[in-house]
Amino acid sequence: MCVPECQKKIAETLSRRQFLKGAAAGAAATAAFMATPVNAKEELFRPMQLRISKVVDLTYPLPPNFPTFGGAQQLTIKNVFNLKDNGYNLNEWVLNEHTGTHMDAPFHFSDQQTADQIPVENLVGPLVVIDIREKAGRDPDALVTEADIRRYERRYGRIPFGAIVAMWSGWDEFVKTPKFRNADAKGVMHFPGFALDAVEFLLANREVKGIMVDTLSLDHGPSTDFAVHYKWLPTNRWGMECVANLGKVPARGATVIVGSPKIVGATGGPSRVIALI
Ligand SMILES: [Zn+2]
Repeated sequence: MCVPECQKKIAETLSRRQFLKGAAAGAAATAAFMATPVNAKEELFRPMQLRISKVVDLTYPLPPNFPTFGGAQQLTIKNVFNLKDNGYNLNEWVLNEHTGTHMDAPFHFSDQQTADQIPVENLVGPLVVIDIREKAGRDPDALVTEADIRRYERRYGRIPFGAIVAMWSGWDEFVKTPKFRNADAKGVMHFPGFALDAVEFLLANREVKGIMVDTLSLDHGPSTDFAVHYKWLPTNRWGMECVANLGKVPARGATVIVGSPKIVGATGGPSRVIALI
């Protein structure tokens, strides 16, 4: 996600941090404001053995009219060369980075890693799927909370080292309808996301590389402060939004591979997300 309001908020926050860095109490205040980034050497990766019986695509096809956080179209495709006249087909894309199934790189909400700087080891990990469909069915503003994570662990065991934790709210059912954005008369959107207490719990107590949602934003639709983005991304952990097919993978046991863009300086971008079962 990112709309003008959110860009304004980022600019304000970054300039506040510049200010804090220069202030007498700068170091302590900055440290308190940001969770500790993952040390570049401290990659959240351990060798794993894979036996693959099935491959599931967690990526949506991306047509120009794919729903967007801001509501406006974010992709245009122009044909530059075609087979008949030129001997080959070639298109040019004009694309907002936060379109379709896409990554939020740490740099999206901080001055940490851009998409190309994320260690490749941090793009592979065991998949954890937290199913909140029942409460999301009752309340479109539902959140994945610390309690949901603890409930998951009682049933499936502790979140494994280096995991990628996904929220499955069932919102994939609405991807071709206005309910995917679910904007009310005032333009406020209503869809599920992560709660701040859930990501604080993961940061403090588990070793997780990335979080994924099947909605348009890591924060739920009505959020105005983007608290989850600001807590999670500055720690050099990434997010993935508009993830598909979480109903086709087990709650525990799959491995995710994220093919995110390696465009230098990118804040994220459309990604191919693949689950191996
Ligand atoms: Zn995004």
